[in-house]
Amino acid sequence: MPKIQRASDVIEQDSEKAFYFIGGGIASAAVAALLLKYQGSGGFVPLAWILVFAAVGLIGFGVFWIVKAKQVTSVSIKCPFCFERNDLIEQPVDDDVPCVACNRMIPILGGVVLSVSQVRCGFCNGLNYYSSKTEALLCEHCNREIQLFQEEGKDSGKRIAKGFAVVDDDQQYELVLVEVGRSSEEVITTLQQMLALNRNQVKDILENTPVTLLQGLPRMKVDLLVAQLSAHGATAEARSLK
Ligand SMILES: [Zn+2]
Ligand SMILES: [Zn+2]
Repeated sequence: MPKIQRASDVIEQDSEKAFYFIGGGIASAAVAALLLKYQGSGGFVPLAWILVFAAVGLIGFGVFWIVKAKQVTSVSIKCPFCFERNDLIEQPVDDDVPCVACNRMIPILGGVVLSVSQVRCGFCNGLNYYSSKTEALLCEHCNREIQLFQEEGKDSGKRIAKGFAVVDDDQQYELVLVEVGRSSEEVITTLQQMLALNRNQVKDILENTPVTLLQGLPRMKVDLLVAQLSAHGATAEARSLK
């Protein structure tokens, strides 16, 4: 089964084709115009007309690809890990697709995005996710295997993690920036994207650290944002809202 493409990728490829065809068309038209202007003893005229036809054809193809790019339909699925929207050109049936935002494979079965459960790694206590489709779970943080087994007496297909407590965390969290760290420029850029604010607004916020950046986040999302900020040298924390 062919891999399902992202709508944005297909639009980009089609637009690129349109760009080359139209560019070629314009170049042919320009050469034709020059030949018609300086026709020499008239010998260039037939060549000029050939180029005119070529230009019309190329631009026609270009328009065709523009129309195709516009017709790309997209199906949205929501990543169960980071809740980001992913636009695909068709509904996936049983093939997992990588998430644009967090790069984890979104588990899909029978056209439905499976929900994911959380488990903490018994070795490093890092948070991991698994679905009923997960065959083997390796810790995202320390790479050790977290054993899963089929829950007895249940035909739901739900697996539970063996030996480690399954976290059923439906609490809300807030994201607190404790310290900016050394690479404040990187952190500013990251926060601009994360909070959809401009540079000056972000700088104002940073004057008052520790500062709450976002509230009411699920555990998975807040952990992801903390990791993202730590990657840029900042110190951030997830605090539970009770
Ligand atoms: Zn994701
Ligand atoms: Zn681990």
